[in-house]
Parts: sequence; C-alpha cells; structure tokens
Amino acid sequence: MARYIDIHTHAFPDEVASTAIPALERSGNVKAYLDGTISDLLKSMDKAEIQASAVCLIATRPQQYKPILEWCESIRTPRIIPFPSVHPKDPHVLEHVQEIHTKGFKGIKLHPYYQDFFMDDPFLADFYQLVSELGLLLVIHCGYDIAYPRIRRSDPMKILDVVEQWPNLRLITTHLGGWDEWKDVRDLLTGKPIYMELSFALDFLDQIRLRDILLNHPKEYLLFGSDSPWADQATTLKMLGKLGLPDDLFQAITYENSARLLELCMLP
Ligand SMILES: [Zn+2]
Repeated sequence: MARYIDIHTHAFPDEVASTAIPALERSGNVKAYLDGTISDLLKSMDKAEIQASAVCLIATRPQQYKPILEWCESIRTPRIIPFPSVHPKDPHVLEHVQEIHTKGFKGIKLHPYYQDFFMDDPFLADFYQLVSELGLLLVIHCGYDIAYPRIRRSDPMKILDVVEQWPNLRLITTHLGGWDEWKDVRDLLTGKPIYMELSFALDFLDQIRLRDILLNHPKEYLLFGSDSPWADQATTLKMLGKLGLPDDLFQAITYENSARLLELCMLP
C-alpha cells in the first residue's frame, strides 16, 4: 500500500470550524475542500493513503497561544502531528517556544501576513536563535498570500537572509519557497539546502518550470504538502505524480523526508 506524509495542513476545533471556514473562504477568496475538522481531515487522509499530516496552527493574537497549545495536545496522535503557533510579538514568546519543545511538539508555524511581521525583522533574532538551538522545525508561510496586498514579507531574498544568519535553523518554507515568487525561487533558493514544501505550487506553475526546480534542488529538502483544506490532498498528490519525477525523488518528497524530520517510525 502506498503511504504518504502531508507536512502542511490546517484544521480547527469542531466548534470553531463551521464559522472559521466560511470566514476564511470569503477573506481569502479560496474554497475549502473539507469542513475544517480533524475527522474530515482523517477521512481525506484515508482516501489519499496519507499516513500522517502535520496540522499547522496560526496564533493571530498573543492570547491565542494557550488555547492553541491545549487543542494541539488534545488532537495529537501518530497520524495527526500538530504544529502549535506563537505570536512573534508576544512578550513571552521565548518561554512559549521552550514550552512547545518541552511538551514534545516537533515544530511551530508562523504566518507573516496573519501575524503582521517581516521574516527578516531583527526583533525575531532571539526567536530564531532559540528555535534553532532547540532543533524545532519552523514552518513559515513564504511568498505572497492571496488574501493580502502584495507586500513582500517572506520572499526568497528574506529567506536567504535568515538561513545565512541561522544556518542550523530547521526552516520549512511553504509554497515551494515563495508563492508567486517563482523566478526568485529558481534564482535564489533552488539548489540550496533549504526545505521547500509544495502546496499551491503544483497548480500555479507549469510542468517545465516545476521539474526544473525540483530536479535541481537537493532531494532531501523537498516535502509534499497540500495546505488542506484549501486544496484536496489526493488531487495534489496526483498532480505531483503527473510530473513523472524519478521514483526515488517522488518517494523522498512524499514520504521519506517528512518521516525523517517528524521522526516517524518509517515502515519498511
Ligand atoms: Zn497553510
């Protein structure tokens, strides 16, 4: 049986999902493929033969840290791997990062548009330092966001700036290193040891440019992500399959690399 890992999904507590999903659909001009609950995500995973999904949370206010963390603790299972969130401007951000690590979570998610920061802002220095010392994964939304004006907050140039300053930071860039920043992704990031996740790239880039980036990037640094519920997991996997990548690369992207990063027991 095929098995895959999705490094980038979202879900909401059951009581929040029914209002959050339509609100986000309107503000982001996107369509949800699921109802936003964990149970619907699991159904989608079963259908797509996905063994595990990382569920990324976003604290849009510092006060959301605690409820998000508690919810993350309540949903975690071998198949659901939550990435809690801190707010970068929270005065207690460093304590919170420490707590996330102590509680055994694998990573943290930040979103520069929803959290109003720029990726290379010097005020993030202590945060990056601590995340990198603790070895936590750090998923950051990269490139433009459909829901926001075109201000560059986390473009490939800023990514380079951050990884040069924190070479041990286990940064996972989303949307192939920068949504709708494809030329800079090719020129500045491709070929460098920077993790890139694939959501919202497969349907926005043509096959020639996609193959060019994927075949010229170190194989260990590419990860399958769907951004579910904002895309369908099975369809995203199918689009990746249609690129006709070498088998070992496809395996690395869809399973091995994420299994290694998430320290999942790799099935033989
Ligand atoms: Zn996302």
